[in-house]
Amino acid sequence: MVTMKKEHKPVEAFVALGSNIEPRGKYIQRALTLMSDHPQIEVLEVSSVYETSPEGGPEQGQYLNAVAKISTTLGAMDLLNSLQAIERELGRKRSVFWGPRTIDLDILLYGQEIISNDRLTVPHPLMHERRFVMEPLAQIAPDAYHPILMMSARTILESLAEGVE
Ligand code: ATP
Ligand code: MG
Ligand code: MG
Repeated sequence: MVTMKKEHKPVEAFVALGSNIEPRGKYIQRALTLMSDHPQIEVLEVSSVYETSPEGGPEQGQYLNAVAKISTTLGAMDLLNSLQAIERELGRKRSVFWGPRTIDLDILLYGQEIISNDRLTVPHPLMHERRFVMEPLAQIAPDAYHPILMMSARTILESLAEGVE
């Protein structure tokens, strides 16, 4: 019998990238390259890179943030594993909660799936409260749909702009 490696149908997903340890821009670029190098991840589009002030956590430097649209044949948990491997390769240490990091790779949306287990929550539970996520997401995918809020990225960003949380 031939055993087949489990490959999913391609799913469109969005990944948020963040870095606030220099060289921040290099970490973002390197993470995008490592994502593209993965045989089961195709990077379809990348937002502009935004400089943002840290929210929460200790006193720390300014962030660079971006969002990438990908197509992947990885299941959601395998995508998380692969992104965490890239974080480790780029020297990510988890010493301080919400502390400074060389790179943070968060899954925002994975198709229209709603996932909640001890390692993964999708849609990302704080994405709709974070301008540093919604602005780059709405830039490349204004119609990206939040399957719990049942709102598009554009609409969520507009509600943030009005100060409605
Ligand atoms: P935040 O989630 O508020 O942005 P963070 O990105 O700093 O915080 P991390 O230290 O990067 O948090 O990750 C902590 C844990 O979050 C990871 O070990 C991972 O299992 C879990 N996690 C849950 N949902 C997601 C998701 N959608 N994307 C990435 N990691 C997630
Ligand atoms: Mg994060
Ligand atoms: Mg993270």
